[in-house]
Amino acid sequence: MNMPILEDVDLQAFNTLALPARARHFIRIENYTQLRESVSWAQQHDLPLLILGGGSNVVLRGDWPGLVLQIALPGKFVELFDDCAEVTVGAGENWHELVQWTLQQNLYGLENLTLIPGTVGAAPIQNIGAYGVELAEFVHVVRGYSLDQQRSVELNAAECRLGYRDSIFKHELRDRFIITAVVLRLRTEFVPVLSYPALQQQLQGREVVSAVEVEQAVRAIRQSKLPNPTLLPNAGSFFKNPVITHDRLAELMQSYADIPHFPAPGGDAKVPAAWLVDRCGWKGKRNGHVGIHDQQALVMINYGDGTGAELLGLAQQVRDDVLDRFDIELELEPTVYGA
Ligand code: FAD
Ligand code: NAP
Repeated sequence: MNMPILEDVDLQAFNTLALPARARHFIRIENYTQLRESVSWAQQHDLPLLILGGGSNVVLRGDWPGLVLQIALPGKFVELFDDCAEVTVGAGENWHELVQWTLQQNLYGLENLTLIPGTVGAAPIQNIGAYGVELAEFVHVVRGYSLDQQRSVELNAAECRLGYRDSIFKHELRDRFIITAVVLRLRTEFVPVLSYPALQQQLQGREVVSAVEVEQAVRAIRQSKLPNPTLLPNAGSFFKNPVITHDRLAELMQSYADIPHFPAPGGDAKVPAAWLVDRCGWKGKRNGHVGIHDQQALVMINYGDGTGAELLGLAQQVRDDVLDRFDIELELEPTVYGA
């Protein structure tokens, strides 16, 4: 086969936690033929596939014994309709660059999702969200290659079952569906979403007239609050915000009257995981080469030379403490790979 498959590749530069791991085989996928041929090559050799975008939401616990497919499929295409614009984007495009590009085209909706690392193809996996906006509001269709059906398949938004940091790609289709393109329906009229207090503070009560202003405000907050993975390797939020019933929230409020909470779908309540972790005293704590960021209790850091096992060990201690104290089980947000 005439495929640029590399052997024994160091994955440290391919995950934003900079965890050490090696791939037995690795290929950068830039077109559909490469995708099909490399999948069929891996299947013939009985090798497990790891589908990778920018590596900003994975924890590599060890070496990968199979083939890593780094999805780099390019392309952007816009069609204008009366009430919206349909944008078809290759899975390998950079998410943040897409946000900038849509604003240059006077297409709106993605401004609150600026500066989220990673690729467009990974965005539906956890239905990326920030500052009161979720990708789900804009997904029209997700295209991909089904490893079970061995053919290209198109899923509409409902079939993707996009939920709070969740989708079908984290369940039945986990590691079984290679997203090749995402079709988004964007607005041609700007509708600001300014519900988050941090965003209102950043804008200092100014009247917002453009999506660019919102994008700049979100970018400024993120740059001031979040550690840059190239300087302090991390994967963003390590734990999902738990969703609990109102009865459970009422019980907790008897002991913790100040517990922050927000409405969640289905009438339940969302509690910030950062508050729970902070209350357990973990913010800023360091254990060997890994730790919890001192400004963001949800962000775990590899201070250099940390391993996936070390990081997951610390995460487990945090989860145990939160469970003991609040009887709430924290779920990991990134996906864990490797033995
Ligand atoms: P990867 O880490 O490469 O992969 C993540 C998962 O998706 C893996 O399971 C992988 O197998 C799968 N996958 C990747 N590409 C494909 C594909 N083409 N087809 C099928 N499966 C695929 N997330 C938010 O929701 N909101 C935020 O505000 C946010 N902020 C962040 C800030 C920082 C500093 C960091 C480091 C992360 C942040 N994240 C945030 C998490 C992360 O950026 C997103 O989840 C992003 O979508 C991951 O993209 P990626 O290309 O890096 O995915
Ligand atoms: P923040 O603004 O300090 O808010 C703290 C928490 O309260 C967040 O978890 C947020 O939930 C919730 N919240 C605040 N105002 C809310 C409102 N009006 N309605 C509903 N929920 C509200 O959070 P932050 O840590 O600085 O992050 C800012 C935004 O960027 C958040 O949306 C966060 O999800 C996103 N972010 C995500 C990642 C990641 O890796 N997933 C990393 C960095 C930032 P939500 O988290 O549900 O929004």
